[in-house]
Amino acid sequence: MSVPLPPIDELIACPRCDTLHQCRVLAETERAACARCGTLLITPRTRSFLHVVALSFTAMILMVAAVFFPFLGISSHGLSHESSVFEAAMAFSDGWLAPLSLAVLLAIVLLPVARFIALIYTLWPLANGRPALRHAAFAFRFAEELQPWSMAEIFVIGTGVALVKVAGLAEISFGPAFWAFCALIVVTVLKTAFMSKWTIWEAIGR
Ligand SMILES: [Zn+2]
Repeated sequence: MSVPLPPIDELIACPRCDTLHQCRVLAETERAACARCGTLLITPRTRSFLHVVALSFTAMILMVAAVFFPFLGISSHGLSHESSVFEAAMAFSDGWLAPLSLAVLLAIVLLPVARFIALIYTLWPLANGRPALRHAAFAFRFAEELQPWSMAEIFVIGTGVALVKVAGLAEISFGPAFWAFCALIVVTVLKTAFMSKWTIWEAIGR
């Protein structure tokens, strides 16, 4: 004999292991995690929205530092050079490599910033206990669809790999922008950990 399923809009699938759970709105101090793998499914509403808004603001400030402050310094045989990410991207800005310059700026700066702005637009009123703004559903869907294209963390890993290659040829020093990028990754991970899509959609829909 099969067990009858609850209505489909009361079901929530774990984003990591796909286990189905029956969901309900939680009290302000409760949180719901997957029964099988422990992934956070539903967060208490106002406080977690406020965390995401605060972390998005932090990430935007770090992004400014990460892009315009010196990222790396290279010195070899008495010659030294420091460069920021913005200068590095602009180095390709004329000639046939110009699209590369645009792609770099898009993937590591503009798209992540657009995502942070869309999240703040969606969650700021909700965090203050007001109803969602008119285009909140569109803004949140936009933020979700941009996620795979925001590559700030991949950029840092790529830089690490390149540095291992260059380290034998010249002396390398990390500028403040490198550490700003590292902090940015930590903030992004925290933001993902605090964010429950189900809770946000549920709040937008009300
Ligand atoms: Zn799970």
